[in-house]
Amino acid sequence: MIALRDQWGRSIEYLRISVTDRCNFRCVYCMPREGLQWLPKAEILTYEEIAEVVRQLSPLGLRRLRITGGEPTIRPDLVSLVRLLRSVDGIEDIALSTNGVRLPELSAPLRAAGLDRVNMSADSLRPDRIAAIARRDLGFDPVGSALAAERAGLSPVKVNVVVLRGTNDDEIEDFARLTMERPWHVRFIELMPVGDLRELTWEHVVPSDEVLSRVARLGALSPDGGPARGNGPARYYRLAGAAGTVGVITPMTHTYCGSCNRVRLTADGRLRTCLYGDHEVNLREPLRRGEPLEPLFRAALAAKPKEHALLQMQVGGLRALSQVGG
Ligand code: SAM
Ligand code: SF4
Repeated sequence: MIALRDQWGRSIEYLRISVTDRCNFRCVYCMPREGLQWLPKAEILTYEEIAEVVRQLSPLGLRRLRITGGEPTIRPDLVSLVRLLRSVDGIEDIALSTNGVRLPELSAPLRAAGLDRVNMSADSLRPDRIAAIARRDLGFDPVGSALAAERAGLSPVKVNVVVLRGTNDDEIEDFARLTMERPWHVRFIELMPVGDLRELTWEHVVPSDEVLSRVARLGALSPDGGPARGNGPARYYRLAGAAGTVGVITPMTHTYCGSCNRVRLTADGRLRTCLYGDHEVNLREPLRRGEPLEPLFRAALAAKPKEHALLQMQVGGLRALSQVGG
């Protein structure tokens, strides 16, 4: 079979798989307090169906997977999905994006099932603030969760911080300091004003250049092209003598569409070729009818847009990241 390329010549080797649109948090930048209109259970792909999509994409060049959501760790028996995905030929890397709450008990079993690494979200190191941003107090201890992942061998551990001006931007240096001792990669994400979050606007976006200049107050900061550099859009830097790195992800101030190598599978089985807009193909019904998916993959990729419209702030049609497998 011929490897999958989109109409712009980008080869697609990375699939982000959303296993649920639900979450135990209600982060202010992601979901309304009352939650969203959840998908009916019957529409959500089973683990076996997800594995079948991966089995059909793998001969076309798929190499890397990320399990995400919503919050993937609240779906029962996530370990068994990891085991299924690990058994697919050709898959080299399986990562998980999580809010970290369940990492203390799940890190070891996920690792044993074949998970390679983890990206954990943590927007504050202060318990009261964590609960305020997540609008839930689940006793989340970001440092404890990251340590649990590191000890289980889920490495490298990446910690994602969405920076919100006036809310947690005074903790930029505290997060950067964590990288002095631990081999973690702390990545500061520019807020994207998506979904119906009208109260978050450009005024709350802290540009990555400003983040880096604050980190540089701690010491000399040099660009780092080391092992943290994955397939994603982050740019990395290292403080002199640090065990880990500091990264920035800049959807609002720099575009990285030119090197986009990814597609997304929503929890209800739609293949989305761009995070933004409505470029998607429904795989669920053909999958449940036992039809081959390759023609659908090819059609979807032929329509993958060259770049997204977020930079022009054409955000009207955007949905929350939890609904599209952010
Ligand atoms: N629940 C998991 C988590 O929080 O890591 C995985 C899903 S979450 C939608 C994936 C990532 O999207 C998280 O790092 C989160 O911080 C980020 N995210 C969600 N909404 C965002 C927004 N409006 N702007 C920037 N990042 C956002
Ligand atoms: Fe849940 Fe992740 Fe969205 Fe926060 S960012 S509400 S943890 S899906």
